[in-house]
Amino acid sequence: MINDVLDFIYPRYCFGCRNVLLSDEKKLCLTCRLNLPRTRFGGRATNPMFRFLRSQHAIQFASASFFFEKNGCTQQVLHALKYHHQPQLGILMGTLMAQELEGIRKYDEVTWIPVPIHPQKRRIRGYNQSELLARGLCRELGGKVLGSALNCMAQSQSQTHKHRSERWTSNQSRFGIEHATDLIGQQVIIVDDVFTTGATISGLLNVMSELELDSLGCVTFGYTIY
Ligand SMILES: [Zn+2]
Repeated sequence: MINDVLDFIYPRYCFGCRNVLLSDEKKLCLTCRLNLPRTRFGGRATNPMFRFLRSQHAIQFASASFFFEKNGCTQQVLHALKYHHQPQLGILMGTLMAQELEGIRKYDEVTWIPVPIHPQKRRIRGYNQSELLARGLCRELGGKVLGSALNCMAQSQSQTHKHRSERWTSNQSRFGIEHATDLIGQQVIIVDDVFTTGATISGLLNVMSELELDSLGCVTFGYTIY
């Protein structure tokens, strides 16, 4: 009742379609949730993202949950997540991703590692959006989130002050791994918001594949079709 009154005074809007939300709807209206453009990639080895990445990296798993549509719902929610300070929306998006990934493998032992963003961007945004997606995935599917495993740096940054096992970088990548030895033997799944050219994830997979992991994979919320 009190929520109905509050909704009347301060209407809440769906981040997907901008229609007014009903009192029992959160962040996304039911229509948007039902109509999200599902890729149905699941864990299929034939999905285009897996095929593309597997041609370059030794990975066991890759999937994206929704097609990224220009001016569509997925673009709207990603925009809100990145630029309108909506951390709860990020967690929700992670749980929606989880629904698409459920049952295709076991996740109890998975270490979810979000793609890092530049520290300056993180300061402005207030969070790393991929970390929120990872938290939503972890909440629904299990495993653990290692938000600080990777860092994003300028390529020229000096790496000489740390031992190689502590900070592992590749010349082709702007990413570094903190405490790399802790990841040995782990089932790692990289989490990113959207797969476009694959350059970001490829850079990370380059670095990660040098570690002795049990398995390596990646998931994204959106997938862009060219
Ligand atoms: Zn909507």
